Amino acid sequence: MTKDPVNAAKTYYQSHYDNLYQELLELLGIPSVSTSEEHKEYIQKAAHFLVNKLTELGLQNVKAYPTPRHPIIFGEYIVNPQKPTILIYGHYDVQPPDPLDQWETAPFEPQMRGDYLYARGSSDMKGQIWATISALQAILQTSELPVNIKYLIEGEEEIGSPSLDAFLEDHKALLKCDLVLNPDAGMLAPDKPTIIYALRGMVYFELRIFGPDADLHSGVFGGVIGNPANIISKVIAGMHDDQSRVTLHGFFDDVRPISEEESEQLSKLGMDEEFFKGITHVPALGGEENYSPVERIGARPTLDVNGIYAGYIEKGTKTIIPAYAMAKISTRLVPDQDPEKIHESMRAYLSETVPETVRWELDFLSGAPAYITEEQAPGVDKFMDALEATWGVKPLKKREGGSIPVATSMKNILGVDSIITGFGLPDDQIHSPNERLHLPTHKKGVEALIRFFLSYE
Ligand SMILES: [Zn+2]
Repeated sequence: MTKDPVNAAKTYYQSHYDNLYQELLELLGIPSVSTSEEHKEYIQKAAHFLVNKLTELGLQNVKAYPTPRHPIIFGEYIVNPQKPTILIYGHYDVQPPDPLDQWETAPFEPQMRGDYLYARGSSDMKGQIWATISALQAILQTSELPVNIKYLIEGEEEIGSPSLDAFLEDHKALLKCDLVLNPDAGMLAPDKPTIIYALRGMVYFELRIFGPDADLHSGVFGGVIGNPANIISKVIAGMHDDQSRVTLHGFFDDVRPISEEESEQLSKLGMDEEFFKGITHVPALGGEENYSPVERIGARPTLDVNGIYAGYIEKGTKTIIPAYAMAKISTRLVPDQDPEKIHESMRAYLSETVPETVRWELDFLSGAPAYITEEQAPGVDKFMDALEATWGVKPLKKREGGSIPVATSMKNILGVDSIITGFGLPDDQIHSPNERLHLPTHKKGVEALIRFFLSYE
């Protein structure tokens, strides 16, 4: 065994950086846009590229599994079945590059400018996959890997991972692992390595309110016919009280409270009132009283109207009582709220609130619970230590307001927690023109991954 495997791997990485960088450029040059049919051959090309690379690394059972749309790549390196197994999750598909005219250089002709590598997929997330591959290669070429590794790299993340759950269900034995490493998130700043330990869930509704058979003259009928536009406004307004608290019965019943310690941790993230005003340019913040902005985003559930439609919305005037009104309403859930219970409480609220003058329908469009990595989840401490040893600062632990459904699927289907992290930065312009990867952070990420994998010694 090499005396100092971390140093040996780091030295290898430094001396082979140019090759690894060239290969990354090649991967970034493949326009693997998952949403578009015309890019199907490039999806295949990107999948082949990764299959070849994993094979070259020495992984076993490397294969692109077909799905109804884009293949899922698997590969494994089993050192010893008794040892822990890390499943690395990634996706090789990318968002469309449009609008093309806003790119300074072509999205699939990667170019370095300053410390950044510009290309679609550089940060989200081919560069992140590449960091894990670089770290593994450096270890495998210089010492022995002390932990089992499996890869699952899908090609449908940017279109909502439609094939993933079925694949997990069908390949539970193949994917058996102790934890998932998901580097599809990122850091708060180049000097702030970050782990995300909680994500919000969601319930999505469409509410439809029906009045008369057709739009009616508001002079002839105004005063006797219930107006769906008026009514939907009132019903929606009643979903929050004066303190911006959601009023649905039982909405907060199962919310897992945050400890004082966690509240203290979250307050260190610097995501305060000024932070949110600074990035959104609103005159003041809204939301529930008695919780800080960062708590309201990560640890408190919310309810928002995402779209609303009723009656005449073109130029000029039209005097009608609309026949119909519709609203799209979503809630963001936190641990341990149950989407089905939220659905029931929404139905109960509407039964009580919508007047008899109209008819209503509610569609439950989707529901997913929140996700939280349990404090004692395997690997989290080791990963935190690896980040700290690399950056020389304590990593931040953050709750995310959005959802990463993959993490929920891994938990529900494979029964394992995810370390949600990554070495992308908030200003990497992911999904936007001029997406970029901050190379110094990327290199540090490789170093942290080397430390993490070797920490299983
Ligand atoms: Zn991504």
